[in-house]
Amino acid sequence: MMQKLTVLGATGSIGTSTLDVVARHPDKFGVFALTGASQLTLLAAQCVQFAPKFAVVLDEAAAQTLRELLIENDCKTEVLCGAQALCDVASAPEVSTVMAAIVGAAGLASSMAAARSGKRLLLANKESLVMAGGLMMAAVRESGATLLPIDSEHNALFQCLPADGGTRGVASLTLTASGGPFLHTPLSDLNAITPDQACAHPRWRMGRKISVDSATMMNKGLEVIEAHWLFGVSAAQINVLIHPQSIIHSLVNYIDGSSLAQLGHADMRVPISHALAHPARINSGVATLDLAQISALEFYAPDFDKFPCLRLAFDALDAGGAAPIVLNAANECAVAAFLAGDIGFLSIARVNAAALKSLNFAAPATLDDVLAVDAQTRAWVVRYLNTLK
Ligand code: NAD
Ligand code: MG
Repeated sequence: MMQKLTVLGATGSIGTSTLDVVARHPDKFGVFALTGASQLTLLAAQCVQFAPKFAVVLDEAAAQTLRELLIENDCKTEVLCGAQALCDVASAPEVSTVMAAIVGAAGLASSMAAARSGKRLLLANKESLVMAGGLMMAAVRESGATLLPIDSEHNALFQCLPADGGTRGVASLTLTASGGPFLHTPLSDLNAITPDQACAHPRWRMGRKISVDSATMMNKGLEVIEAHWLFGVSAAQINVLIHPQSIIHSLVNYIDGSSLAQLGHADMRVPISHALAHPARINSGVATLDLAQISALEFYAPDFDKFPCLRLAFDALDAGGAAPIVLNAANECAVAAFLAGDIGFLSIARVNAAALKSLNFAAPATLDDVLAVDAQTRAWVVRYLNTLK
C-alpha cells in the first residue's frame, strides 16, 4: 500500500535525505505535506517535485514568499503557517507516516501530535524524547502509533534487538560515537575553536546544531537519554564507545556473550530507508560495505573529562524528572550562543552544568509542564549569559 508522508523539517539534512529516498520509490510513497523554517527556494523546489497537498512555514511573511515562488512554477500546493499547522499536517487523517526531522525543542509538539494520532512515526528529532520521553512513549502506546528510530545508533539497536520489541536476554546497549572533529584535539586548544571548525564533522554531513552537539559529545549524551526511552533500559545498561570510522552504528550485548551490531556507510539514507520500508527492505541509494577496502576499525573508551557534556547527560538521566529538559534547553541556548560567536566552545558545557546545578523544577506531568520548564530554562540561560559579559 502507498504510504502518505508528512516530512517535518523537509529542507534540513534529514529532510532532504528522506526525499532522496522517497524519489527512488514513487510507487511506494506519496507526499502529503512538507515543512521548513527557512530555505524557501529549496522548499518551493521540493513542492514542485513532490506535489504535496500542503507546505508549512513559520509565519505569514514566509508563507507569502513561498506562495509567490509556487505560483511562478504553477504548483498547486497550499501554503499554511505557524506551530498549529505543523501539528495539523502531522496528525491529518490522510497521513500514514510522519518523518519528524525538525531540529530541537521546536519539533516536540508536532512529534507528539503524530504520536498521539497513531501514525507511523519516523523520529529523527531526538530532543522530543529527551524532553518528554515518558509522555511520548505513553502517547505511542495509547494511540497504537509505530515508533521507528531514525537516529543511526538507535536504528541500529532497533535492528539488533529481539524482533518482538522487548529486551529479553539483553545485558546492555553500546552506542558508538565517532568522537566528533575534536577527538584528537588537546583540551587546551578547544576554547579557540570557531563555529565552522566545530561544524566540520569528519563523517556525517548534518545541520549546524547537531554538528556542534557532536563536537561537544552532547549529541551522544542526548542519545543515551533517547535510548533509555526508546528501549526501556536504565542508564547503567547503556555505554558509549568511540569508533571514529562510524561503520558500526551500535551494538546490543546479550547475556550469553553475543553482541549483535549493525554496520553500514555513514549515510542517513540507510536508517531512513529501513524505517520507511519496515519490515520490508528497499534500495536506499547507498552502496554495500566493502570491509576489505575499509580494512581497519578502531575503538576507544570516551574521555568524560574532555567532553563533560556526556557526563552531564548521564547525570540528568539519573536525576530524572525535569533535569533532561533543563539540560536540553540550556544546551540549545548555549549552542546558539556559540554559533552566534557570543561564547567560546568550552562555555557550552559550563552553561549546561550551571543550568543543571541551579535549576530545580517539579517532574512534569503534561506537555505544557514540559514546555514551561523549557521556557524557564531558556530565560535563566539568557540571564546567566548576560552575567558573563
Ligand atoms: P537541519 O538544521 O539540517 O534541519 C532542520 C529542519 O528543521 C529544517 O527543515 C528547518 O527548516 C526546520 N526548522 C528549524 N527550526 C525550526 C522551527 N523553529 N520550527 C519549525 N521548523 C524548524 O537539522 P538536521 O541535521 O536535519 O537534524 C534534524 C533532527 O534530526 C535533529 O533533531 C537532529 O538531532 C536529528 N538527527 C540528525 C541527523 C543528521 O545526520 N543530520 C542524524 C541523527 C539525528
Ligand atoms: Mg546519532
